[in-house]
Amino acid sequence: MSLPAGSTIGIIGGGQLGRMLAVAAARLGYRTIILEPQADCPAAQVANRQITAAYDDADALAELAAASAVVTYEFENVPVAAASALAAKVPVHPPPRALEVAQDRVAEKQFLNGIGIKTADFRAVDNDDELTAALRAFSGSGILKTRRMGYDGKGQRVFRNMETGGFAGTCEAMSNVPLILESFVAFEREISVIAARGLDGAVAAYDPAENVHRDGILHTSTLPAQIRQETAAAAQAAAAKILSSLDYVGVIGVEFFVLADGSLLANEMAPRVHNSGHWTEAACIVSQFEQHIRAIAGLPLGNPGRHSNCVMENLIGDDVLRVPALLAEPDLMLHLYGKAEARPGRKMGHFTRISRRS
Ligand code: AMP
Repeated sequence: MSLPAGSTIGIIGGGQLGRMLAVAAARLGYRTIILEPQADCPAAQVANRQITAAYDDADALAELAAASAVVTYEFENVPVAAASALAAKVPVHPPPRALEVAQDRVAEKQFLNGIGIKTADFRAVDNDDELTAALRAFSGSGILKTRRMGYDGKGQRVFRNMETGGFAGTCEAMSNVPLILESFVAFEREISVIAARGLDGAVAAYDPAENVHRDGILHTSTLPAQIRQETAAAAQAAAAKILSSLDYVGVIGVEFFVLADGSLLANEMAPRVHNSGHWTEAACIVSQFEQHIRAIAGLPLGNPGRHSNCVMENLIGDDVLRVPALLAEPDLMLHLYGKAEARPGRKMGHFTRISRRS
């Protein structure tokens, strides 16, 4: 049964993704309530209510459950225990299991490999000896990442051709947290697929975007990606497999490396709407945000087809100074996140330039 208009959707997390979900929910006639410790957060500025508390605050979670017909989240580091406690009282989509998988890079790769989706080779690393052994296994090249809480390239270190050891102190320098060494992938390009699964099990995948990162942060997403049709279809099929394997409801973002022969390695999955899917609000009838709300509300999924080619670009820090000039362009959609202060590295907004579909 679908959620009646006027119902309240709870959203854990108050950043720009929560903001865009709240706007999409409002367009479909729903109310939203945001759980976020930071007052006047980007999402709460456009929602009906904010509970200003930590994500694992038991009273706040009880209040959120009581006030919401369904609960979702906008970031993957929601404490699994909080999501599971909520799920005992109110439907939570996507399922807490998706958080569990996505929060640990080792669990994520084991899950992906287990359902037949290839990733870079990897080894769990907890000390310098394990790092040395893992680097030897990967011929001296690899990327060392934190297993948990890493995003936008933070907490990462690249090793190239360093087979001989001398890694004493590396794990300490990374705060002795659990790590993963991934073999270095000589990819040709990076793509991502945004896909959704409805309450009825229907799946809809958008076209893959081609992504360029700068300083570990997404810079642009371009449609169409310069890949073969079979590669695009394989990426969409992999995303669909992830969704059905997790009995997932909602939108997911899956990032892939494309190798020279067109084959794919999955890099990571985000159990939420994704920065590399922002282009959908300008180049599709139904954006990833509306698609997510449709899915969790039990409404039919929308058409993920793309009516235009486009390039989405993030506005980071002082990039917001470009806004007046950008607004003068005719085929450009701008989205600002309501953040007062433009700190370096902070995502302030994005824009999408559309062009006729070739
Ligand atoms: P991540 O935090 O895993 O998304 O990594 C951030 C960026 O680092 C990716 O978008 C890639 O550009 C690069 N990267 C991550 N893992 C690898 C890898 N195993 N091999 C080569 N490049 C990588």
